[in-house]
Amino acid sequence: MSGAINQASSAIHSVRTPLDLADLEAFPANPTPGHPNEATRGEEITHFLAERHDAAVNGSAFAAADQVGINAQNQYRAERGQSPVLSQAMTGTTDAAGNPIARFTYADGTHEDIAIAPNASVARIAPSIVAFT
Ligand SMILES: [Zn+2]
Repeated sequence: MSGAINQASSAIHSVRTPLDLADLEAFPANPTPGHPNEATRGEEITHFLAERHDAAVNGSAFAAADQVGINAQNQYRAERGQSPVLSQAMTGTTDAAGNPIARFTYADGTHEDIAIAPNASVARIAPSIVAFT
């Protein structure tokens, strides 16, 4: 479990904050044609459910609970023929509007960049700025 994964995941969610449904809705229900590895709403919901369950039942801190979430997320992706998520890390860069970029890196060498608008509590995902290799 790398710190980078925690950092990016914290930008989108935390086991200690309410889940923002608008963040989930920013993800598509299905991958966009031509982008088979695109992160989807279903895998994010799977991640949250597994993570929150682990935190509630086992009292896991963020890193451990997040890894349980990633494992469940990758099971979901495997069932849909998608490459596993290796990392979800902040790149340290921003888009033209100044939104920090989180990069989802997949095992097959592709990646997806997601701009996260600064927000006092839960960050927003800007789907229009999602980019792919
Ligand atoms: Zn998580």
